[in-house]
Amino acid sequence: MAETITMGPDDALHVPAEPIIPFIEGDGIGVDIWPAAKLVLDAAAAKYGHRVAWKEVLAGQKAFDEVGSWLPDETVEAFRAHLIGIKGPLTTPIGGGIRSLNVALRQVLDLYVCLRPVRWFDGVPSPVRHPELVDMVIFRENTEDVYAGYEVEAGTPEARKLMTFLREEMGFPIRDGSGIGIKPISEMGSKRLIRAAIRYALDRGRKSVTLVHKGNIQKFTEGAFRAWGYDLVREEFAEVAVGWDDCDGKPGDKLLVKDTIADITLQQVLTRATDFDVIATTNLNGDYLSDALAAQVGGIGIAPGANINYVTGHGIFEATHGTAPKYAGQDKVNPGSLLLSGVLMYEHLGWTDAARDIVAALEATIAAKIVTYDFARQMDGATEVKCSEFAAAIVERL
Ligand code: NAD
Repeated sequence: MAETITMGPDDALHVPAEPIIPFIEGDGIGVDIWPAAKLVLDAAAAKYGHRVAWKEVLAGQKAFDEVGSWLPDETVEAFRAHLIGIKGPLTTPIGGGIRSLNVALRQVLDLYVCLRPVRWFDGVPSPVRHPELVDMVIFRENTEDVYAGYEVEAGTPEARKLMTFLREEMGFPIRDGSGIGIKPISEMGSKRLIRAAIRYALDRGRKSVTLVHKGNIQKFTEGAFRAWGYDLVREEFAEVAVGWDDCDGKPGDKLLVKDTIADITLQQVLTRATDFDVIATTNLNGDYLSDALAAQVGGIGIAPGANINYVTGHGIFEATHGTAPKYAGQDKVNPGSLLLSGVLMYEHLGWTDAARDIVAALEATIAAKIVTYDFARQMDGATEVKCSEFAAAIVERL
Protein backbone atom coordinates (compact mmCIF):
# COMPACT_ATOMS: atom_id res chain seq x y z
CA MET A 1 0.00 0.00 0.00
CA ALA A 2 1.33 3.43 -0.94
CA GLU A 3 2.21 5.47 2.14
CA THR A 4 3.87 8.74 3.05
CA ILE A 5 7.46 8.91 4.29
CA THR A 6 7.53 10.43 7.77
CA MET A 7 10.10 11.87 10.13
CA GLY A 8 10.34 9.94 13.39
CA PRO A 9 10.97 11.33 16.86
CA ASP A 10 14.49 9.89 16.46
CA ASP A 11 15.20 12.45 13.71
CA ALA A 12 15.36 9.64 11.17
CA LEU A 13 13.22 9.09 8.08
CA HIS A 14 10.65 6.32 8.34
CA VAL A 15 10.33 4.82 4.87
CA PRO A 16 7.34 2.52 4.20
CA ALA A 17 7.61 -0.43 1.81
CA GLU A 18 5.89 1.58 -0.92
CA PRO A 19 6.65 5.28 -0.35
CA ILE A 20 4.78 7.98 -2.25
CA ILE A 21 7.41 10.11 -3.96
CA PRO A 22 6.37 13.23 -5.88
CA PHE A 23 8.29 13.90 -9.09
CA ILE A 24 8.54 16.79 -11.51
CA GLU A 25 9.31 15.48 -15.00
CA GLY A 26 11.05 18.74 -15.92
CA ASP A 27 11.02 20.96 -18.99
CA GLY A 28 13.05 20.56 -22.18
CA ILE A 29 14.96 17.27 -22.00
CA GLY A 30 12.89 16.28 -18.93
CA VAL A 31 10.60 14.32 -21.29
CA ASP A 32 13.61 12.25 -22.32
CA ILE A 33 15.60 11.78 -19.12
CA TRP A 34 12.76 11.26 -16.62
CA PRO A 35 11.30 8.10 -18.29
CA ALA A 36 14.86 6.77 -18.74
CA ALA A 37 15.81 7.36 -15.10
CA LYS A 38 12.50 5.97 -13.85
CA LEU A 39 12.93 2.76 -15.87
CA VAL A 40 16.24 2.03 -14.11
CA LEU A 41 15.09 3.19 -10.67
CA ASP A 42 11.98 0.99 -10.78
CA ALA A 43 13.89 -2.06 -12.02
CA ALA A 44 16.55 -1.75 -9.30
CA ALA A 45 13.98 -1.22 -6.53
CA ALA A 46 11.98 -4.28 -7.69
CA LYS A 47 15.06 -6.49 -7.28
CA TYR A 48 14.87 -5.88 -3.54
CA GLY A 49 11.08 -5.92 -3.16
CA HIS A 50 10.81 -2.13 -3.00
CA ARG A 51 8.32 -0.11 -5.01
CA VAL A 52 7.94 3.62 -5.40
CA ALA A 53 4.44 5.07 -5.78
CA TRP A 54 5.46 7.94 -8.10
CA LYS A 55 3.15 10.95 -7.92
CA GLU A 56 3.50 13.47 -10.73
CA VAL A 57 3.41 17.12 -9.72
CA LEU A 58 3.77 20.07 -12.04
CA ALA A 59 6.24 22.94 -12.18
CA GLY A 60 7.93 25.03 -14.86
CA GLN A 61 6.73 25.40 -18.43
CA LYS A 62 4.52 22.30 -18.25
CA ALA A 63 2.74 23.72 -15.20
CA PHE A 64 2.39 27.13 -16.80
CA ASP A 65 0.89 25.62 -19.97
CA GLU A 66 -1.47 23.27 -18.12
CA VAL A 67 -2.57 25.25 -15.06
CA GLY A 68 -1.28 28.80 -15.63
CA SER A 69 1.23 28.85 -12.77
CA TRP A 70 5.00 28.24 -12.87
CA LEU A 71 4.99 26.73 -9.40
CA PRO A 72 1.47 25.65 -8.32
CA ASP A 73 0.73 25.57 -4.59
CA GLU A 74 -0.23 21.87 -4.87
CA THR A 75 3.32 21.08 -6.00
CA VAL A 76 4.90 22.80 -3.02
CA GLU A 77 2.34 21.14 -0.74
CA ALA A 78 3.08 17.68 -2.20
CA PHE A 79 6.80 18.09 -1.50
CA ARG A 80 5.98 19.41 1.96
CA ALA A 81 3.64 16.52 2.79
CA HIS A 82 5.66 13.64 1.33
CA LEU A 83 9.08 14.93 2.51
CA ILE A 84 11.16 13.43 -0.30
CA GLY A 85 10.84 14.23 -4.02
CA ILE A 86 12.79 14.27 -7.27
CA LYS A 87 12.83 16.67 -10.18
CA GLY A 88 14.12 17.17 -13.68
CA PRO A 89 15.38 20.55 -14.91
CA LEU A 90 13.05 23.53 -15.07
CA THR A 91 12.93 26.49 -17.41
CA THR A 92 13.69 29.68 -15.54
CA PRO A 93 10.80 32.09 -16.31
CA ILE A 94 12.08 35.29 -17.91
CA GLY A 95 10.49 38.36 -16.32
CA GLY A 96 7.63 37.93 -13.83
CA GLY A 97 7.84 37.44 -10.10
CA ILE A 98 9.93 34.27 -9.74
CA ARG A 99 13.75 34.58 -9.96
CA SER A 100 14.19 30.84 -10.28
CA LEU A 101 11.84 27.94 -9.53
CA ASN A 102 14.69 25.96 -8.02
CA VAL A 103 15.59 28.79 -5.68
CA ALA A 104 11.90 29.24 -4.78
CA LEU A 105 11.51 25.55 -3.85
CA ARG A 106 14.71 25.63 -1.78
CA GLN A 107 13.53 28.72 0.07
CA VAL A 108 9.97 27.59 0.74
CA LEU A 109 11.13 24.27 2.24
CA ASP A 110 14.29 25.78 3.79
CA LEU A 111 16.45 23.14 2.05
CA TYR A 112 19.66 24.43 3.57
CA VAL A 113 22.09 21.82 2.22
CA CYS A 114 22.93 21.52 -1.46
CA LEU A 115 24.53 18.08 -1.57
CA ARG A 116 26.77 17.30 -4.54
CA PRO A 117 28.76 14.07 -4.43
CA VAL A 118 31.49 14.04 -7.07
CA ARG A 119 33.18 10.82 -8.03
CA TRP A 120 34.43 9.26 -11.20
CA PHE A 121 32.72 6.30 -12.82
CA ASP A 122 35.03 3.87 -14.56
CA GLY A 123 35.31 4.65 -18.26
CA VAL A 124 33.74 8.11 -18.25
CA PRO A 125 35.78 10.50 -20.41
CA SER A 126 37.54 13.11 -18.30
CA PRO A 127 39.87 16.03 -19.05
CA VAL A 128 42.27 15.11 -16.20
CA ARG A 129 44.86 12.31 -16.00
CA HIS A 130 43.65 10.80 -12.71
CA PRO A 131 39.91 11.27 -12.39
CA GLU A 132 39.80 8.13 -10.22
CA LEU A 133 41.39 10.16 -7.41
CA VAL A 134 38.30 12.38 -7.18
CA ASP A 135 35.85 11.21 -4.53
CA MET A 136 34.45 14.26 -2.81
CA VAL A 137 31.08 15.23 -1.35
CA ILE A 138 30.24 18.91 -1.35
CA PHE A 139 27.88 20.40 1.25
CA ARG A 140 27.04 23.82 -0.15
CA GLU A 141 25.08 26.24 2.04
CA ASN A 142 21.87 26.93 0.18
CA THR A 143 20.04 29.78 1.89
CA GLU A 144 22.47 32.64 2.62
CA ASP A 145 25.38 34.55 1.09
CA VAL A 146 25.04 36.83 -1.93
CA TYR A 147 22.42 34.33 -3.17
CA ALA A 148 19.91 35.57 -0.60
CA GLY A 149 18.83 38.04 -3.29
CA TYR A 150 19.25 41.26 -1.27
CA GLU A 151 20.44 43.50 -4.10
CA VAL A 152 19.76 47.03 -5.24
CA GLU A 153 20.33 48.26 -8.78
CA ALA A 154 22.71 51.15 -9.48
CA GLY A 155 20.98 54.52 -9.86
CA THR A 156 17.70 53.51 -8.17
CA PRO A 157 16.21 55.35 -5.16
CA GLU A 158 16.86 52.20 -3.10
CA ALA A 159 20.55 52.22 -4.02
CA ARG A 160 20.82 55.93 -3.16
CA LYS A 161 19.10 55.37 0.19
CA LEU A 162 21.35 52.45 1.11
CA MET A 163 24.43 54.30 -0.09
CA THR A 164 23.59 57.32 2.04
CA PHE A 165 23.22 55.11 5.10
CA LEU A 166 26.45 53.25 4.39
CA ARG A 167 28.41 56.46 3.81
CA GLU A 168 26.98 58.47 6.69
CA GLU A 169 26.43 55.84 9.36
CA MET A 170 29.13 53.30 8.54
CA GLY A 171 31.82 55.40 6.87
CA PHE A 172 31.91 53.15 3.78
CA PRO A 173 32.92 55.36 0.79
CA ILE A 174 30.76 53.57 -1.79
CA ARG A 175 31.16 55.02 -5.30
CA ASP A 176 28.28 56.81 -7.04
CA GLY A 177 26.61 54.60 -9.61
CA SER A 178 27.21 51.36 -7.67
CA GLY A 179 24.84 48.43 -7.49
CA ILE A 180 24.98 46.90 -4.02
CA GLY A 181 24.46 43.32 -2.85
CA ILE A 182 24.28 42.13 0.75
CA LYS A 183 26.11 39.00 1.90
CA PRO A 184 24.57 37.62 5.10
CA ILE A 185 26.32 34.64 6.73
CA SER A 186 24.86 33.61 10.08
CA GLU A 187 26.14 31.44 12.90
CA MET A 188 22.96 29.30 12.79
CA GLY A 189 23.13 28.92 8.99
CA SER A 190 26.83 28.04 9.02
CA LYS A 191 26.63 25.62 11.92
CA ARG A 192 23.64 23.65 10.64
CA LEU A 193 25.37 23.19 7.27
CA ILE A 194 28.70 22.14 8.82
CA ARG A 195 26.87 19.89 11.34
CA ALA A 196 25.21 18.05 8.43
CA ALA A 197 28.60 17.62 6.69
CA ILE A 198 30.27 16.28 9.85
CA ARG A 199 27.42 13.84 10.56
CA TYR A 200 27.52 12.62 6.97
CA ALA A 201 31.31 12.11 7.20
CA LEU A 202 30.98 10.24 10.51
CA ASP A 203 28.09 8.04 9.31
CA ARG A 204 30.01 6.97 6.23
CA GLY A 205 33.47 6.65 7.74
CA ARG A 206 34.95 9.43 5.60
CA LYS A 207 38.42 10.78 6.50
CA SER A 208 37.98 14.53 6.71
CA VAL A 209 35.73 17.56 6.39
CA THR A 210 37.32 20.61 4.76
CA LEU A 211 35.76 24.04 5.36
CA VAL A 212 36.27 26.05 2.14
CA HIS A 213 36.06 29.83 2.59
CA LYS A 214 37.48 33.25 1.62
CA GLY A 215 38.03 34.26 5.23
CA ASN A 216 41.38 35.88 4.53
CA ILE A 217 39.53 38.73 2.77
CA GLN A 218 35.90 38.54 3.94
CA LYS A 219 36.67 38.16 7.63
CA PHE A 220 33.24 38.60 9.22
CA THR A 221 31.32 36.43 6.75
CA GLU A 222 33.58 33.75 5.25
CA GLY A 223 36.05 34.00 8.13
CA ALA A 224 33.23 33.63 10.63
CA PHE A 225 31.96 30.55 8.74
CA ARG A 226 35.39 28.96 9.33
CA ALA A 227 35.54 29.97 13.01
CA TRP A 228 31.97 28.76 13.69
CA GLY A 229 32.89 25.45 12.07
CA TYR A 230 35.80 24.88 14.43
CA ASP A 231 33.67 26.04 17.39
CA LEU A 232 31.03 23.48 16.44
CA VAL A 233 33.59 20.65 16.40
CA ARG A 234 34.63 21.54 19.98
CA GLU A 235 31.04 22.08 21.18
CA GLU A 236 29.26 19.07 19.67
CA PHE A 237 31.75 16.58 18.25
CA ALA A 238 34.74 16.64 20.63
CA GLU A 239 34.52 12.86 21.21
CA VAL A 240 34.59 11.93 17.54
CA ALA A 241 36.12 14.80 15.55
CA VAL A 242 38.91 17.33 15.95
CA GLY A 243 39.91 20.60 14.25
CA TRP A 244 43.33 20.83 12.56
CA ASP A 245 44.69 23.44 15.00
CA ASP A 246 43.59 21.39 17.99
CA CYS A 247 45.57 18.32 16.88
CA ASP A 248 48.35 19.75 14.72
CA GLY A 249 46.88 17.88 11.76
CA LYS A 250 47.13 14.52 13.57
CA PRO A 251 43.57 13.45 14.40
CA GLY A 252 44.32 9.89 15.55
CA ASP A 253 41.13 7.88 15.06
CA LYS A 254 38.92 10.98 15.02
CA LEU A 255 37.45 12.71 11.99
CA LEU A 256 39.74 15.58 10.92
CA VAL A 257 38.11 18.97 10.29
CA LYS A 258 40.40 21.36 8.38
CA ASP A 259 40.02 24.42 6.16
CA THR A 260 41.32 25.89 2.92
CA ILE A 261 40.92 29.21 1.13
CA ALA A 262 38.51 28.97 -1.82
CA ASP A 263 40.90 30.14 -4.56
CA ILE A 264 43.71 27.73 -3.71
CA THR A 265 41.10 24.99 -3.30
CA LEU A 266 40.31 25.22 -7.02
CA GLN A 267 43.99 24.46 -7.71
CA GLN A 268 44.38 21.75 -5.10
CA VAL A 269 41.30 19.74 -6.12
CA LEU A 270 43.20 19.26 -9.40
CA THR A 271 46.74 18.78 -8.08
CA ARG A 272 46.06 17.07 -4.72
CA ALA A 273 42.63 15.53 -5.16
CA THR A 274 43.11 12.94 -2.42
CA ASP A 275 43.49 15.70 0.22
CA PHE A 276 39.75 16.38 -0.15
CA ASP A 277 36.91 14.22 1.05
CA VAL A 278 33.76 15.89 2.46
CA ILE A 279 33.71 19.65 1.80
CA ALA A 280 31.53 22.20 3.61
CA THR A 281 31.33 25.63 2.05
CA THR A 282 29.33 28.81 1.61
CA ASN A 283 26.84 29.28 -1.20
CA LEU A 284 28.84 31.09 -3.91
CA ASN A 285 32.07 29.11 -3.36
CA GLY A 286 30.00 25.93 -3.47
CA ASP A 287 28.40 26.90 -6.75
CA TYR A 288 31.76 27.33 -8.50
CA LEU A 289 33.36 24.35 -6.83
CA SER A 290 30.50 21.94 -7.66
CA ASP A 291 30.65 22.58 -11.39
CA ALA A 292 34.46 22.70 -11.52
CA LEU A 293 34.61 19.32 -9.80
CA ALA A 294 31.84 17.89 -11.98
CA ALA A 295 33.92 18.82 -15.04
CA GLN A 296 36.86 16.84 -13.63
CA VAL A 297 34.83 13.61 -13.63
CA GLY A 298 32.78 13.87 -16.82
CA GLY A 299 30.63 16.98 -16.66
CA ILE A 300 27.16 18.07 -15.65
CA GLY A 301 25.47 15.40 -17.80
CA ILE A 302 26.36 12.89 -15.07
CA ALA A 303 26.58 14.98 -11.85
CA PRO A 304 23.82 14.32 -9.29
CA GLY A 305 22.50 16.71 -6.66
CA ALA A 306 20.07 17.09 -3.79
CA ASN A 307 18.69 19.87 -1.63
CA ILE A 308 18.03 18.74 1.91
CA ASN A 309 16.83 19.95 5.29
CA TYR A 310 18.11 17.30 7.69
CA VAL A 311 15.99 18.67 10.57
CA THR A 312 12.54 18.57 8.93
CA GLY A 313 13.44 15.62 6.70
CA HIS A 314 12.59 17.44 3.46
CA GLY A 315 14.72 16.64 0.44
CA ILE A 316 14.46 17.26 -3.29
CA PHE A 317 16.83 15.31 -5.49
CA GLU A 318 17.59 16.85 -8.87
CA ALA A 319 19.52 16.79 -12.10
CA THR A 320 22.18 19.47 -11.88
CA HIS A 321 22.06 20.55 -15.53
CA GLY A 322 19.39 22.67 -17.22
CA THR A 323 16.70 21.94 -19.78
CA ALA A 324 19.07 21.85 -22.81
CA PRO A 325 16.17 23.01 -25.05
CA LYS A 326 17.96 22.34 -28.33
CA TYR A 327 17.94 18.60 -27.54
CA ALA A 328 14.43 18.40 -26.03
CA GLY A 329 12.30 15.48 -27.17
CA GLN A 330 15.07 13.95 -29.31
CA ASP A 331 15.76 10.99 -26.99
CA LYS A 332 19.42 11.92 -27.25
CA VAL A 333 20.90 13.29 -24.02
CA ASN A 334 22.50 11.58 -21.05
CA PRO A 335 20.03 10.64 -18.28
CA GLY A 336 22.98 10.06 -15.89
CA SER A 337 22.56 13.17 -13.76
CA LEU A 338 18.89 12.51 -12.99
CA LEU A 339 19.46 8.77 -12.59
CA LEU A 340 22.34 9.30 -10.14
CA SER A 341 20.19 11.83 -8.27
CA GLY A 342 17.72 8.97 -7.91
CA VAL A 343 20.57 6.78 -6.63
CA LEU A 344 21.41 9.47 -4.09
CA MET A 345 17.75 9.49 -3.09
CA TYR A 346 17.70 5.70 -2.66
CA GLU A 347 20.83 5.95 -0.45
CA HIS A 348 19.10 8.65 1.57
CA LEU A 349 16.06 6.37 1.99
CA GLY A 350 18.31 3.51 3.11
CA TRP A 351 17.79 1.52 -0.12
CA THR A 352 21.53 1.08 -0.43
CA ASP A 353 21.43 -2.31 -2.22
CA ALA A 354 19.38 -0.94 -5.10
CA ALA A 355 21.56 2.18 -5.21
CA ARG A 356 24.77 0.14 -5.37
CA ASP A 357 23.40 -2.09 -8.13
CA ILE A 358 22.47 0.88 -10.32
CA VAL A 359 25.98 2.31 -10.01
CA ALA A 360 27.52 -1.07 -10.89
CA ALA A 361 25.19 -1.50 -13.90
CA LEU A 362 25.91 2.06 -15.07
CA GLU A 363 29.64 1.40 -14.86
CA ALA A 364 29.26 -1.90 -16.74
CA THR A 365 27.31 -0.12 -19.49
CA ILE A 366 29.94 2.60 -19.85
CA ALA A 367 32.72 -0.03 -19.72
CA ALA A 368 30.96 -1.74 -22.67
CA LYS A 369 31.26 1.66 -24.39
CA ILE A 370 27.49 1.93 -24.77
CA VAL A 371 26.93 5.65 -24.19
CA THR A 372 24.94 8.72 -25.21
CA TYR A 373 26.31 11.29 -27.68
CA ASP A 374 28.05 13.47 -25.09
CA PHE A 375 30.36 10.65 -24.01
CA ALA A 376 30.52 8.92 -27.42
CA ARG A 377 32.19 11.91 -29.02
CA GLN A 378 35.00 11.78 -26.46
CA MET A 379 35.57 7.99 -26.52
CA ASP A 380 37.29 5.78 -29.08
CA GLY A 381 35.20 2.92 -30.43
CA ALA A 382 32.02 3.84 -28.55
CA THR A 383 28.53 2.77 -29.59
CA GLU A 384 26.33 5.88 -29.45
CA VAL A 385 22.83 5.04 -28.24
CA LYS A 386 19.68 7.03 -27.51
CA CYS A 387 18.76 8.17 -24.02
CA SER A 388 16.13 5.41 -23.72
CA GLU A 389 18.49 2.77 -25.13
CA PHE A 390 21.16 3.75 -22.61
CA ALA A 391 18.63 3.22 -19.81
CA ALA A 392 17.59 -0.16 -21.25
CA ALA A 393 21.28 -1.19 -21.44
CA ILE A 394 21.70 -0.33 -17.75
CA VAL A 395 18.61 -2.34 -16.82
CA GLU A 396 19.99 -5.35 -18.74
CA ARG A 397 23.10 -5.19 -16.53
CA LEU A 398 21.30 -4.78 -13.19
P1 NAD B 1 21.78 23.45 -19.81
O1 NAD B 1 22.41 22.70 -18.69
O2 NAD B 1 20.34 23.22 -20.05
O3 NAD B 1 22.51 23.11 -21.17
C1 NAD B 1 23.84 23.49 -21.54
C2 NAD B 1 24.43 22.41 -22.45
O4 NAD B 1 24.88 21.33 -21.64
C3 NAD B 1 23.46 21.77 -23.43
O5 NAD B 1 23.33 22.49 -24.62
C4 NAD B 1 24.10 20.43 -23.66
O6 NAD B 1 25.14 20.56 -24.61
C5 NAD B 1 24.70 20.09 -22.32
N1 NAD B 1 23.83 19.23 -21.51
C6 NAD B 1 22.97 19.60 -20.50
N2 NAD B 1 22.37 18.52 -19.98
C7 NAD B 1 22.84 17.46 -20.66
C8 NAD B 1 22.60 16.05 -20.58
N3 NAD B 1 21.74 15.53 -19.70
N4 NAD B 1 23.26 15.24 -21.45
C9 NAD B 1 24.11 15.73 -22.32
N5 NAD B 1 24.39 17.03 -22.46
C10 NAD B 1 23.78 17.90 -21.63
O7 NAD B 1 22.07 25.01 -19.54
P2 NAD B 1 21.44 26.31 -20.23
O8 NAD B 1 21.33 26.11 -21.72
O9 NAD B 1 22.24 27.42 -19.70
O10 NAD B 1 19.98 26.47 -19.61
C11 NAD B 1 18.76 26.11 -20.27
C12 NAD B 1 17.57 26.35 -19.34
O11 NAD B 1 17.69 25.53 -18.17
C13 NAD B 1 17.42 27.78 -18.81
O12 NAD B 1 16.04 28.11 -18.72
C14 NAD B 1 18.01 27.70 -17.41
O13 NAD B 1 17.51 28.69 -16.56
C15 NAD B 1 17.56 26.32 -17.00
N6 NAD B 1 18.38 25.70 -15.94
C16 NAD B 1 17.71 24.94 -15.03
C17 NAD B 1 18.41 24.27 -14.04
C18 NAD B 1 17.64 23.43 -13.08
O14 NAD B 1 16.45 23.25 -13.23
N7 NAD B 1 18.28 22.86 -12.07
C19 NAD B 1 19.81 24.36 -13.99
C20 NAD B 1 20.47 25.12 -14.96
C21 NAD B 1 19.74 25.78 -15.95
